[in-house]
Parts: sequence; C-alpha cells; structure tokens
Amino acid sequence: MKTPIYMDYHATTPVDPRVVEEMLPYFTEMFGNAASRNHAFGWGAEEAVEQGREHVAGLIGAEAKEIIFTSGATESDNLALTGIAEFYKDKGNHIITCVTEHKAILDTAHMLESKGHRLTYLPVDNQGCIDLNQLEDAIGDDTILVSLMAANNEIGTIHPLKEIGRITREKGVLFHCDATQGVGHMDLDVNEMNIDLASYTAHKIYGPKGVGALYVRRRKPRVRLSPIIFGGGHERGMRSGTLNVTGIVGFGKAAQLMIEEGTSEREQLQSLAGRLREGITRELDHVHLNGHPTQRHPGNVNLSFLFVEGESLLMGINDIAVSSGSACTSASLEPSYVLRAMGLGDDLAHSSIRFGVGRFNTEEEVDFVIRRVVETVARLREMSPLYEMANEGIDLDKVQWNVH
Ligand SMILES: *Cc1c(COP(=O)(O)O)cnc(C)c1O
Repeated sequence: MKTPIYMDYHATTPVDPRVVEEMLPYFTEMFGNAASRNHAFGWGAEEAVEQGREHVAGLIGAEAKEIIFTSGATESDNLALTGIAEFYKDKGNHIITCVTEHKAILDTAHMLESKGHRLTYLPVDNQGCIDLNQLEDAIGDDTILVSLMAANNEIGTIHPLKEIGRITREKGVLFHCDATQGVGHMDLDVNEMNIDLASYTAHKIYGPKGVGALYVRRRKPRVRLSPIIFGGGHERGMRSGTLNVTGIVGFGKAAQLMIEEGTSEREQLQSLAGRLREGITRELDHVHLNGHPTQRHPGNVNLSFLFVEGESLLMGINDIAVSSGSACTSASLEPSYVLRAMGLGDDLAHSSIRFGVGRFNTEEEVDFVIRRVVETVARLREMSPLYEMANEGIDLDKVQWNVH
C-alpha cells in the first residue's frame, strides 16, 4: 500500500488507464480538427467526437444531438443559467436555486441578480434536503428556471430529482440539474426525471480535466439558449471554439465505462464508505454524520469530530488526502457555507472532514484511514478540556464562561 492515500474523489478523480489508452492516438496520428471538412484528418476527429457524444449522452439517457461540449461543469452551469436567463428574458426573469449549490451556480446566480434578475435561494433542513412544497410555492408566473443539483459535492445529499421534475413540468418551467456528482453514482435519466438541462464533467468520472457537457433538451419542450462564447458557430452555435477532441474521446470512454460498470461500482463504494463510517464511529464517540443518512452519494462520508479542529485533524492525518469544509473555499478558515446552511453550529462545522471514496480505493486503505483518524482524534481530544468536561457529563451549552 502506498501513501499518501487519495480519498478526495469529489474534488477530482485519476484518469482511468483504459481512458488514457483510448485518448493517446488523438494527440499524435489522429490530431485533426473536428471542424475540418476537406480531409481525412478532420473526418477522423469528427467521427471520434460523435462517438464520444453518444456515450456521454447515453450516461443520462439523452440523445447525442442534445449534448453541447464545454470546458467543464463550471462552464456548463454558467451557460445554462446565463443562456436561459438571456434567451427567455421576455418570458420572465425569476430563477429558483438552492443555498447548498456549487459556487459555479451560486456565483452565476449572484451575477444575474446584479443585472436585475430575481433569484430565490431555497433553504435546506439539517440533512441538506429542500422542502418540495416550498419549491412549488416559489414558482410564479415570471419563473423561467429551477436549478437544483443531483448529489451535493460536500455532504453527498441527493435531491429528489423525479419529484422536482414532476413539479417543474407541471408548472411549465425549465429544470436545470448540476449532475456533476450524480452521474454514474445514482439513477439519473433526463426523460424519467423531466430534466431539461444538465451539467457534468469528465474529471469527476475518471476522465480528463478540462472537458464537460451541457445536456439541452431538444423535444418536449425544445430548449433554446443564448451562447456565452461566440466564434465559429461550433456546437450548433451554443458554444464556439475548436473542440477538445482528445478530451472528448476520454470523456466518452469514461462515460462508456460508467454505463457498463457504474451499477456494480456503486455497491463497491457503498461498502467501502460504510466500512469507513462504521470503523470510525465504533471507536470514537461524538462523531456526527453530515448530510442525509441514506439518500446520499455512495462514496461520500462527511463527518464532524466534536472537540477537534478540522484543520488540526487534517495536519495530523497528512498522509491521507481528504478535504475539510469545501475544497473550493478551504483557502479561508470560514466554515463551509453548505454546513452553515444546514444549521450546523460552529463546533460541528469547524470539525468536519469530507472523505470521498472512489474506484481505486481498497479495503486495506480504508482500514489504514480508520486507524489513522481514530488515533489522531483520540490524541487531539486528550488535550481538549472541553472533551473532558463533556465526558464528565457537563452540558457545555449551559456553562457560564468567564470572558476576560
Ligand atoms: C466539480 C464540480 C463542479 C465544477 O466542475 P469543473 O469541471 O471542475 O468545472 C460543478 N458542480 C459540482 C457539483 C461539482 O462537484
């Protein structure tokens, strides 16, 4: 077993060797521009792109023609929200999303708000779930879009997409889903769930970084978008720029592997994640699971270790690659906005660690992580007077602190 151990699969995944192999010829002999119509180099590249498109579409039950290739899920999220807001501005200017969405959604939403759009940010309960009645009540005559993610990248909570899609379809508003953490890890079918737009990215499913997709429904209803990148009219005018052929080939292969192996992989991840969670909670008290207990990403284990600072714990387990709070905001010591939105107190939010188990983790690695976490938490708690008081049965919320 090699250290450091990688257990941060929500941040990114290694490229599967089978994906690398598929990509290699497209850097050298098959380097053509997929838009070159006059020679075999171009035709070969175009054929590879269209094959990739089939697999990427198939992963969510879509048709190849409904896929727009982008540089990643961030761009797909930007294109979905901005493109819909612009194209449907005469129909309405209200968009509904949620406080626990990825920053690619929230920051785009804030930008639209600053340009005069009306935004509603649905709250969540202490397990990261929205209230469907609140969603229904929020939809008005001027609502054009509801954007809600599949699985949360921090806490793993899965939104009830089928119920959301039933509501949006009934009310005649579009439904965009940031499906980045969901694809391959849960049942996800755009027709069954009435999803009209969906964002996802290759590097979270064992493909390369820098390539993503936006699914845009073509029938019932036909969804239209204004572009945010202008140029040669690639991707039916919705996203100009020479296609990332190698990236798309890799994304296609990664999607194909997920279609073939995703269901059995889910069981494997669930078993490893369960082993990790049980191994840690068997040995340690005052450990809190963040997110929904069952409706969650199979590889996500987000735990708060009371009486321990997340940052100290991270330093103590420096041969294990995990995240505290959100990877995107961990440069600051602010507790994660997702945990805050769930109403977690500072004590729980500051002591949280996100483990993301993935394809290449083994039981041996999980057992090593359990041991390291248990011994590090125990050592840190030995130095904590708060932990000692709690164990003596003192209710810390009732203690009158002497502040100097
Ligand atoms: C990783 C992630 C993104 C961003 O994807 P990139 O391809 O890195 O731009 C967006 N949304 C969610 C939920 C993610 O987990």
